[in-house]
This record gives sequence, C-alpha cells and structure tokens, in this order.
Amino acid sequence: MAQQIRLGIVGVGKIARDQHLPAIAANAGFRLIAGASRNAQVEGVRNYKTIQELLAAEPDLDAVSLCATPQVRFEQARDALLAGKHVMLEKPPGASVVEVKLLAELANERGRSLFATWHSRHAPGVETARAWLAERDIKSVQVLWKEDVRKWHPNQDWIWQPGGLGVFDPGINALSIVTRILPRAFFLKSAELWVPSNRQTPIAANLNFTDDRDTPIRAEFDWRHGSEELWQIEVTTGSGVLRLSQGGKLLHIDGAAVNVGPEREYPGLYERFFELVSSGASDVDLRPLEHVADALLLGHRHAVEAFVD
Ligand code: NAP
Repeated sequence: MAQQIRLGIVGVGKIARDQHLPAIAANAGFRLIAGASRNAQVEGVRNYKTIQELLAAEPDLDAVSLCATPQVRFEQARDALLAGKHVMLEKPPGASVVEVKLLAELANERGRSLFATWHSRHAPGVETARAWLAERDIKSVQVLWKEDVRKWHPNQDWIWQPGGLGVFDPGINALSIVTRILPRAFFLKSAELWVPSNRQTPIAANLNFTDDRDTPIRAEFDWRHGSEELWQIEVTTGSGVLRLSQGGKLLHIDGAAVNVGPEREYPGLYERFFELVSSGASDVDLRPLEHVADALLLGHRHAVEAFVD
C-alpha cells in the first residue's frame, strides 16, 4: 500500500464537516483529493456532484469515505467497490442488514477493504470498560440514551423516513458500545416504540434484551429530552458497578473516576481505516444494526403526537 491513501469524501453534511474533514487533515496517512456532494463543496480540493462523477474523474483515488445518509449508502459503496476503491462507511452502515452483507462479500471478492465504522466504539472509556468486564459476572445492564432531537438533528428530514432510524440513529451508538463491552451475546425479547403520527420512525424506544443466562439488559432511547443529553451505560456485576457516561467519554467504577484519556473518536476511526487498508483487511460488525432491525421487527408501536421541526 502507498504511504498515503488518496481519499475522496462523499456527502458533505454535518458530520463530514464537524468530524471527518478535521480528522482527515490531522492524519498524515491520508491525502484528501476530492469531494462529492450535490449541494456542498470541500475547500481546497476538486469537487463533484455525485460519487459516479468523482469515480470517473479521479481514477487514482485509493479510497472513499461515505458520509451521506444511510438510504444511499449501498449504491455509493457498491459503485466505489466496483471501481476498485476501499470504502469507509459512516454509521449506520446501511438501510438494511442484508445490503451490508452483500457489500462485505463484494469487498472480499474485489480484494478491497470495507470498514463499517461505529464512532462511539472509539470513545475513550470503551476499551477499558471491555477489559474490566471481560472476566466479570454481569448481573444487569441499563442504557439511558436521551437527547433533544431539535438540538442534534434540526431539519434532518431523512432521519424520519424509512431507513433513517429515528431515535435509533443515536441509539445505535449505545448499541455499538454495549455489543463491544459485554462479554456475552445478547438478544432482544421485546420493545416499545413511540412513533409521531406524521413520521415513519420512532421518537423514543424502550428495549428489553437478555442473554443465555437471563441477564436483564434494558435500554431507553428518547429524543424528547432537555438540552443536557444523557448518554450513559451502567453495568452491575458481581464485583462492582461500571458506568460509562457522556457517550463513553467518562468511566467510573464503583463511583471512582478512571483516567481514560482524551476524546478522539474520529481520529481513531481514520487510524483504524489506515490499518485495514494497509493490511488488506475489512471490519464489518453488523450486530448494532441487527439489534435495531429486531426492534423494528418486534416493537410494539404507539402513535404519539405529530413532530414538527
Ligand atoms: P446531514 O447533515 O443531513 O448530511 C448528510 C449529507 O448527505 C447531506 O448534506 C447531503 O449532501 C447528502 N445526502 C442526503 N441525501 C442524499 C441523497 N439522496 N443522495 C446523495 N446524497 C445525499 O446528516 P449528518 O448529520 O451529516 O449525517 C450523515 C450520516 O452521519 C448519518 O448516517 C448519521 O447517522 C451519521 N452521523 C451523524 C452525526 C451527527 O452528529 N450529525 C454523528 C455521527 C454520525 P448533498 O445534499 O450536498 O448531497
């Protein structure tokens, strides 16, 4: 692999600007060559309207980072893989589970790296939490993931459309952490979903998971929360209580803070993508998306008042 990965960024919206562009600029392993977005441009590089134009005009590109909405992820990723590019997918990796499996097969056939990112797994407390929990007897898990949708997703119409996930768009971040830190597999038993009468996706959800030892694993996701977000996971074990808060930035064990270092989720994602491309590997863990799909399969739906931005 070349020392520098020549990269294109696709779908220049909030997350591309807030996180991807600074993380790419700070990583010497990548050189941003071009952007593709219908209504936005990246300063200092060549810009195209669509990924198809980008792929046709930039044959020397090594990789693309796809930051558009999940509903268009498959087509963009497929076209990039068929053009011989390595592909990094924002979360969620697709609008359906099976389309991402197909992409993984395609990447394998073409000998290209596919990276289905879960940025919250790179929050500083996550790996320490995983190591601490690895040998412990898990008694119960409580996830509270609550924020104000108007603060975090203003006028994002796609999020309320099929494939947009609604409150599972942030909730899947919690599930990406829980699937990483718990030592045993778990599954959904039941769910309650609250869906605004004028929308397709839930504004709140309660999830009731368990595992082969009947461990209660409960999650509450809510977008009707105040401006102080609550992104917390508490795991009670036979020998202490672990709490990740602020989305995994802080870690407490039995109430005592553990020093886990600074926040660097997106720098961590690009370091991982560089490693994957350099070693010819892929990283596609679909468990968070599978749990969301199960919630949409099993969920008992309640219609609630219309949501207007
Ligand atoms: P956003 O601000 O709405 O930006 C997404 C961009 O996708 C849009 O600006 C649009 O760019 C492009 N797009 C939308 N519909 C498209 C279509 N039909 N065809 C092609 N391009 C289309 O959304 P975002 O917040 O950046 O979220 C994007 C992804 O990042 C989501 O999967 C989200 O879950 C994830 N994410 C978001 C955050 C966050 O805090 N916002 C955090 C982590 C991850 P053009 O109109 O210019 O084409």
